[in-house]
Amino acid sequence: MAGPSVAKNWSKIKNQVLHAQKNSKFTLKEVCIIGVSKLQNEDVIEEGLRSGVCHLGENYVQELVKKMDTFANQKVVWHMIGPLQSNKAKLVVGRVEMIHTLDRESLAQTISNLALQKNIKQEVFIQVNIANEDSKSGISVKEVAGFAKKIKGLEGLDIVGLMTMPPFVSNAENSRPYFSKLREIRDELNANIFLDKKLEYLSMGTSQDFEVAIDEGATHIRVGSTLFGERTK
Ligand SMILES: *Cc1c(COP(=O)(O)O)cnc(C)c1O
Repeated sequence: MAGPSVAKNWSKIKNQVLHAQKNSKFTLKEVCIIGVSKLQNEDVIEEGLRSGVCHLGENYVQELVKKMDTFANQKVVWHMIGPLQSNKAKLVVGRVEMIHTLDRESLAQTISNLALQKNIKQEVFIQVNIANEDSKSGISVKEVAGFAKKIKGLEGLDIVGLMTMPPFVSNAENSRPYFSKLREIRDELNANIFLDKKLEYLSMGTSQDFEVAIDEGATHIRVGSTLFGERTK
């Protein structure tokens, strides 16, 4: 079923990203657009891949694994962007490029151990719950430095940056304070904890506010409904 075409959406989003990047307060070498394919039909995703989408983000391990299988012969870079249970970590470590949702010590340990068994380092983002919402996962702002210190030495982890999912807003500008806060936290962690190997990335911004996120320094944006259309389930 051809709704509003994914190809068209993709090209529009790419232009918006380029524009936002050029006008950003920060010099961003590259902004990675992750197409969030959770709960989307395979034909819609297929159209995205044909149009040039190559990073896909999934929230649920079962669905991720199934789609990895479906699209096994295509060039897809996978991202885990949903809450991850420790007992399912073995299904994603070493198979996704980045896990965006590291939010507790036990999970950090599990991911690190699994990565070491595979002789790799797993790229991870620390998820920060900037607005302290009960409904959201992530380390609180108060605890993030302590958490970072504890997991910094885990040899199977390559901690690449911070991720956040701010509250739903009706006006994109309302997300700005959360995005700038995440950037400030990253810079503080780099000044105090990650002295030798800096956290480079910020995974922030979705369909509702990715341009504002880029203005505030996002390096990875996660765009679902604006690219693939409304989710089916
Ligand atoms: C679903 C989801 C997205 C995409 O949201 P859209 O509003 O469809 O762009 C991004 N990030 C996370 C963590 C998500 O769960």
